[in-house]
Amino acid sequence: MNEKLPIAKPQFGQLHAYVPGKTKGGVKLSANENPFGHSPQVTEVLANFQAFSKYPDGSASLLKEKVSQFLGVEAGQLIFGAGADEVIQMISRTLLMPGDNIIQANPTFSQYEHHAIIEGAQVRNVPVTSDGFHDLGAMYHAIDEKTKIIWVCNPNNPTGTYLSDVALNAFLKQVPSRILVVLDEAYAEYATAKDFPNSMELLKTYPNVMVLRTFSKIFGLASFRVGYGVGNPELISSLDVGRLPFNVSTIGQLVAAAAIDDTDFVKECAVKNAEGLKQYEDFFNSKGISYNPSQANFIFIPTGQAKEIGQKLETGGYIIRVFKDGIRITIGKPEDNQAIIELLETIFG
Ligand SMILES: *Cc1c(COP(=O)(O)O)cnc(C)c1O
Repeated sequence: MNEKLPIAKPQFGQLHAYVPGKTKGGVKLSANENPFGHSPQVTEVLANFQAFSKYPDGSASLLKEKVSQFLGVEAGQLIFGAGADEVIQMISRTLLMPGDNIIQANPTFSQYEHHAIIEGAQVRNVPVTSDGFHDLGAMYHAIDEKTKIIWVCNPNNPTGTYLSDVALNAFLKQVPSRILVVLDEAYAEYATAKDFPNSMELLKTYPNVMVLRTFSKIFGLASFRVGYGVGNPELISSLDVGRLPFNVSTIGQLVAAAAIDDTDFVKECAVKNAEGLKQYEDFFNSKGISYNPSQANFIFIPTGQAKEIGQKLETGGYIIRVFKDGIRITIGKPEDNQAIIELLETIFG
């Protein structure tokens, strides 16, 4: 017998398993989690939950009903996943064939590229502008006959920048309708800009658009793994074919349904976040340090010294996210923002 164990598809050789940021050794402001926790209504649901031995409702009907009312869309336009991450996987698995390509900004959220490569598709990376914005013109020019998906992260992770309603509409008008444009709005609830797009309106105009949202960020429910996609019902039905039968846990469905009712909690978090962003902006402006303007719950500072700064902040008790050419700091509680600013002041001098 000289048979080898089965091995992965060749493209797995160029990928690695997800490496989560550090979780110990300081205040964690590296994963854009909600520093203010979650709605008290969630705690109540947890205290009363007992149906441990039963499978979840596979179609998440109660949660679907709530979210459809909340957004003003049909229930058939919604698909739920174990986090928006799983919806990204479902979209890639359903649409991409070897030889196809996707277009995305660089840098952006890592999972679009990851799943494209697993499906044997090519990735066309379009650099963001010098201040961290999607370059929609260049993204349009990257389209060819093999393009299946364009990923638009709005606001973009990790740069925090956003695309206005006007900019996005102009882009969507140009993109051929055979290409799916996914608007990943994991941070949309944080956006305060008056011209931030109303994506539910865009869905009515462009049937080739899909929107992703999550309960992991402003709702503060990352541990439960609940996210969803909104799109045209035909596409949603196709995605549903590949969905695992019980992909969202009962408890996840229940806490998400409770959280979406507590609009006060969400509003309050958005206000505190905007105040935190301002703390940083005021500091960077006063020091002449350049940063990417953010509409999200984090701020990106381009720097050649990312690693060193990350190290120094960690020594000072704060874990942030280090990238090749910058650092990303999740907006925290006011006192933590202040403490980080003081550390940055000693670092930047
Ligand atoms: C956090 C994040 C997600 C995924 O979050 P889930 O926890 O899987 O719902 C998706 N897109 C972006 C841009 C994110 O930052």
